[in-house]
Amino acid sequence: MLPRTLFESEHQQFREAVRRFFAQELTPNIPRWEAQGQVDKDFWRACGAQGILCPDMPEAYGGAGLDFRANAIVLEETSYTGSATPAFGVHSDIVAHYLLKYAQEDLRRTWIPRMVDGSAIACICMTEPGGGSDLKAIRTTAVREGDGWRINGAKTFITNGVTADIAVIAARTGAEPGAKGISLFFCETDRPGYKVGRKLDKVGQHSSDVAEIFFDDLRVPADYLLGAENQGFVLMMQELPQERMSIAVTAHSAAQRAYDLTVDYVKQRQAFGHTLLEFQNTRFVLADLRTKLQVGWTHLDACIAALLQGKLTTDQAASAKLFHTELRSEVTDACVQLFGGYGYMNEYEIARLWKDTRIQRIYGGSSEIMKELISRAI
Ligand SMILES: Cc1cc2nc3c(=O)[nH]c(=O)nc-3n(C[C@H](O)[C@H](O)[C@H](O)COP(=O)(O)OP(=O)(O)OC[C@H]3O[C@@H](n4cnc5c(N)ncnc54)[C@H](O)[C@@H]3O)c2cc1C
Repeated sequence: MLPRTLFESEHQQFREAVRRFFAQELTPNIPRWEAQGQVDKDFWRACGAQGILCPDMPEAYGGAGLDFRANAIVLEETSYTGSATPAFGVHSDIVAHYLLKYAQEDLRRTWIPRMVDGSAIACICMTEPGGGSDLKAIRTTAVREGDGWRINGAKTFITNGVTADIAVIAARTGAEPGAKGISLFFCETDRPGYKVGRKLDKVGQHSSDVAEIFFDDLRVPADYLLGAENQGFVLMMQELPQERMSIAVTAHSAAQRAYDLTVDYVKQRQAFGHTLLEFQNTRFVLADLRTKLQVGWTHLDACIAALLQGKLTTDQAASAKLFHTELRSEVTDACVQLFGGYGYMNEYEIARLWKDTRIQRIYGGSSEIMKELISRAI
């Protein structure tokens, strides 16, 4: 890998502290969390104590006042453990930013510090059973009633859905169809009417709890509206570049992990009296992947730098999400091939990486939707 110029020495220290902490507290727990289908809530609090959650939140709200580089380090190091969880991206990179930018001051002061210390876990409820790609078609309704809002509807595929203490909800508030009538709301998940449905049985990412959520006459106060009424779609579009970078960073680090594991493996595994690395096919496959990973890191850092300057455009972020998640698929699939039958055994980390990979081309906007967005800029 080429030297990365995006990070300062203080970031390097932060990275080393995160890596040490994960080696002790995350890696040994992965098999147990995978089996139980979720991460222990205590682990979130331990991460909070280490300054790992929402590191870019301002000090006034309990954060470390850093920037997205610190968030990227947390994502990279999490992914590089070979685990898809905890879902720090949803919590730190998405929900915390909706609260910081669009919530009333009381809500910000109450909840951001709890997100930072890990006592409140967050989820975001956009996707509905009727469709995820077409966010304009949201059918959940929020109706103004007295001093609050009454919300009814159903969401699905919600990451942290079982463990979350707080949620951001997208609902239809306007009579106008399409994007214009959508608003966003904050909500505590223990309010009457907020109901967690099934924890969904996924192909991979087993330690990430993903659930159905139902709103059955859920009432929230008027000031739980985030931003202005009927402006929810605009807010979502503004936040998407960072959400997409969060997925791109995770994808690239996991691809690097798969590559590194495979290099170690092919140096040891023997066939026909040679190590696998001695076969030209193995060396050429790995040379190809290594080249793409190197180019990818440089691209990732350039996108993060643009994001920090507020200059990363919607189509550039979509390209990053598209490129890095597709690359992760290519890399992990080629790596499983080099592991042979062992690559298909659940006890091998490469098998988990491969299964965890597939969803990244779908969630957070599918590859096809990314191409739609990119093509609009042509
Ligand atoms: C594990 C997991 C975690 C998730 N976490 C969250 C979460 O925390 N919060 C949340 O709100 N959502 C979450 N999602 C939902 C996710 O973002 C959606 O699944 C995704 O956006 C796709 O929506 P869909 O599943 O309804 O597929 P559909 O929208 O039905 O799409 C099906 C297929 O049609 C294609 N397609 C759709 N429209 C077009 C088009 N215009 N042109 C070309 N092709 C098109 C899609 O690319 C896809 O291949 C999660 C999903 C999963 C599986």
